Amino acid sequence: MSTVRLSPTVAGLASSATLVLNARIQAMQADGIDVINFTAGEPDFPTPRRIARAAIRAIETGLTRYTAVRGILPLRKAIVTRVEQDYGLSFEPDDVVVSNGGKQCLDNLWRSLLAPGDEVIVVAPYWVSYPPQIQLAGGVPIVVRTRIEEGFQLDVDRVAAACSPRTRAVLLNSPANPSGVTIGDGRLAAIAELCCDRELLLVTDDLYYKMVYGDFRWRHPASLVPEVLRNSLIIGGVSKAYAMTGWRIGYALGPRPLIDAMIKVQAQATSNPCTISQYAALEALTGMGGDEEVTRMVAEFERRRDLMYQLVAAIPGLECVKPQGAFYVFPRVSAYFGRRTPDGRTIASAMDLLEYLIDTARVAGVPGSAFGGPDHIRFSYACGVETIEAGMARVAGALDGLM
Ligand code: GLU
Repeated sequence: MSTVRLSPTVAGLASSATLVLNARIQAMQADGIDVINFTAGEPDFPTPRRIARAAIRAIETGLTRYTAVRGILPLRKAIVTRVEQDYGLSFEPDDVVVSNGGKQCLDNLWRSLLAPGDEVIVVAPYWVSYPPQIQLAGGVPIVVRTRIEEGFQLDVDRVAAACSPRTRAVLLNSPANPSGVTIGDGRLAAIAELCCDRELLLVTDDLYYKMVYGDFRWRHPASLVPEVLRNSLIIGGVSKAYAMTGWRIGYALGPRPLIDAMIKVQAQATSNPCTISQYAALEALTGMGGDEEVTRMVAEFERRRDLMYQLVAAIPGLECVKPQGAFYVFPRVSAYFGRRTPDGRTIASAMDLLEYLIDTARVAGVPGSAFGGPDHIRFSYACGVETIEAGMARVAGALDGLM
């Protein structure tokens, strides 16, 4: 028996539920079990060939050494150009740091920004890693809840009421993981004004900004309230829009002292993000045909969103806000709490219900407790329409079997 003693911070740290469950279901599938996996928060499309070829070219031409910690200049220029086109905001390449996924950008950020006990406003339901990352950096996540009855819309007064003299930042995610909800212009402007008034950093996790449906027009708050730009940090990445989750390339743009601090943290932690992946990301952002690829994938996600939402909403007892972006639904399932399984177990939580669905229906999602929404389950629809139809038919059948 090892006598290794863990740091108290890490001993109390939650595991990433999305990654744990995805690995568990993939292991079941590898064992030949026919289980439908709605856990994975990643596109099922292959990375486009032109991007893969750019990576192969990089290897074959010897672009395999360290790069600048902050990432290669052509990629940072491409990010600046993309942000100019899509956000209407101007940056210089030195305002950019490229990291191992949006996740490392956030980790660099909190380590650079927070003193012990500093607070960050996080909106629930939130992505699983937001609170643990803030805690790992010694900060305190202050969770502001949104309600399903209000379509998970952010109440700006509640955000203002949650601020204290220790508050350093507000973290927004629109479209949001896990709810798919977007933030409209009025609320964005009000949050931006609040951040200006109180000199808070406005952090936007924009990983899903290209994945919006219907006539929703995505905007960054600084396009509504320009003064907020000097205290804004933008986080983006190629994982979702270009089906490149495994390549691990994210980026951050913001005030230079903060970006320089994040580069210092990254230099001590990991050095540059993978050189080969950087050349692949450069091709993703600048190569011919990229916009059509993204448009095609987004159109397919919208078709799946329509189907998934319709099937979930048709199941008695499940309540769901129609997502306007990303690729998740987040139905409330608590109508089934207190019901009994055919073998006599009582469903007391979303996790119990999920275990029942995995055992009986062979369908998996992620329990809402991981996202600060304990009455919910997240189902990802980043999978084919046949899978969505089959999976939701199984869920409906299994829920109907509860007593
Ligand atoms: N963002 C994805 C998800 O929510 C990927 C897994 C993760 O890093 O949490 O499922």
